[in-house]
Amino acid sequence: MLPLPLIEKLGTLPGLDLPAFEGVHANSVAPTSIRINPLKVDGIGNLFAQSKAVPWCDTGFYLPERPFFAHDPNWHGGAYYVQEASSMALHAVWQQVVPAAREPLRVLDLCAAPGGKSTHLLSLLRADDVLVSNEVISARVNILLENITRWGHHNSMVTQNDPADFSALEGLFDLVLVDAPCSGSGLFRREPQAMQEWSPEVVLQCSRRQQRILSDIWPALKEHGWLVYTTCSFSPEENEEMLDWMCSQFACEPVKLDLPESWHIQQVEAARSGAFGYRFYPHLLQGEGFFLSIMRKKDAAGHWRPRVPAMNKMQIPVDALRNDWIADNHDLAYYRHKDTLYAMAPNALDLFRQLQPALHIRKAGVCLGEWQRNGLQPDHALAMSTLVHPSMPRLVLSREEALQYLRRETQLPASDRKGWQLASFEGLSLGWLKHLGNRINNYYPMEWRLRS
Ligand code: SAM
Repeated sequence: MLPLPLIEKLGTLPGLDLPAFEGVHANSVAPTSIRINPLKVDGIGNLFAQSKAVPWCDTGFYLPERPFFAHDPNWHGGAYYVQEASSMALHAVWQQVVPAAREPLRVLDLCAAPGGKSTHLLSLLRADDVLVSNEVISARVNILLENITRWGHHNSMVTQNDPADFSALEGLFDLVLVDAPCSGSGLFRREPQAMQEWSPEVVLQCSRRQQRILSDIWPALKEHGWLVYTTCSFSPEENEEMLDWMCSQFACEPVKLDLPESWHIQQVEAARSGAFGYRFYPHLLQGEGFFLSIMRKKDAAGHWRPRVPAMNKMQIPVDALRNDWIADNHDLAYYRHKDTLYAMAPNALDLFRQLQPALHIRKAGVCLGEWQRNGLQPDHALAMSTLVHPSMPRLVLSREEALQYLRRETQLPASDRKGWQLASFEGLSLGWLKHLGNRINNYYPMEWRLRS
């Protein structure tokens, strides 16, 4: 049973069919949906025999039943992300808001773990745009790092900072996504046990925290930049009332989307400001409860002037990397910290150097590995990226062998090639292994290994 105070509050919203809303919570299960990674796979057909398209996202698909994803090597290789369908509406926002002809963008995903919307943004960005994915809660940063690494892009960065740490970076970002921590009522169908923790007081606490987060991040948005605000709550205090609050605090212009009626996403207007919001109700569409809105910044932001420390001359063995390890079809900049080498898009390196003194950066670009006397000891991130040299040897594994590899077992098929190789499943890299003649060393990261 949905909490009564929530039902009473929602009863005040125009046009909500409460019996249908309560019925879908009592009598149905949440659909299973995934979003494919266009960097790594050509289409859904290579992954699942049956699927149906998510209307508002070209790369999103519903599956007829929920597979055991942990036993699918394609999931481990970053071929797709399991994501609730309503959240994929970021795709429609991007297509309507961001012009095709434009300068490279700097994008911030402020509340990013576990990485659903960050991986989606990476698929939407161009190679010369840069994404900063931030997560303040330290216990949640590792899963974000893992998912971003798996997705394989080299124009991203992960930071671990409080939103207040961004306030000084005035006018830095063209687009900021605040997928706010919220009371979570939109996910009650999928996680009914979460109803026990819900109360009107929690909603109030969440809305205060959302105001704090928005106040902290607003200065970091560029003039004419976009703030995308989303929650998975049905409560107006966290949604329409938050839009009214933003319009009272910031010089911003609400952005109206033009969404097809057949999608059944409900456009709403905040009572005082008339700002537009978009509600996703599980009784109207195939997805969970979700709210999104977009504000455009009107006032001239100040300009953050980074103090970029001089870069020490770095010995980077570019020729050796290009000969043996890295494909030559990417525009790359390199960075070295002690013996560890990184590669990233040139714009990502510029931003990394600016942000280094200001933020706690946990990842930048693709870690290539340790440069040792006998050459590169490759990092897992290199295997997950698309930077690897096309002639790198691959050990082709069956599904069962791939699962053995992911469990870090070493009884893998024999190979007549010695040395570093990629463990490969259906054309997708899963990680590194080293063939030593009489045995194989499995370099799948210990902390990622499949335990079942
Ligand atoms: N965007 C993520 C995705 O699509 O996978 C989901 C984000 S979840 C709705 C909200 C995130 O905000 C959580 O990861 C949570 O740890 C983080 N968070 C919690 N308190 C916060 C705060 N005070 N400031 C910023 N983020 C916070």
